[in-house]
Amino acid sequence: MAIATRRRSKYTDTVRSVLIERGHATNAQIAADLRLLFPTVSDTTVHRITQRLIEDGEARLAPNASDGSMLFDSNAEAHDHFECAGCGELRDIHIPREGRSMIRSAIGDCRVDGPLKIVGTCCNCMNRK
Ligand SMILES: [Zn+2]
Ligand SMILES: [Zn+2]
Repeated sequence: MAIATRRRSKYTDTVRSVLIERGHATNAQIAADLRLLFPTVSDTTVHRITQRLIEDGEARLAPNASDGSMLFDSNAEAHDHFECAGCGELRDIHIPREGRSMIRSAIGDCRVDGPLKIVGTCCNCMNRK
């Protein structure tokens, strides 16, 4: 993919920094943050900007949020995720090659070539019990 010039506008710049700060965010979360600064910005504008960040390779899609909505990821490199079933926290992780090959033999040598999502309980949630 050709390297596009980074698009600049006050909305795009703010969406970019909201996403970087949150790490992972839905359009609804980004829109809510953006409206703290620009109360009249529309959902359509936010959707258009996040779509462009994906097209320009500045962001990628993470596994969907628990309510099924699209989740944008400020980390544009391929990576795996850990999701806490208790609080919904989504964290970037890297599953090493050996881990992938163990998973591969567990699934009858089918190929593991996509990002992986591990679901579990985070330390905070475990301590709360
Ligand atoms: Zn948790
Ligand atoms: Zn991520």
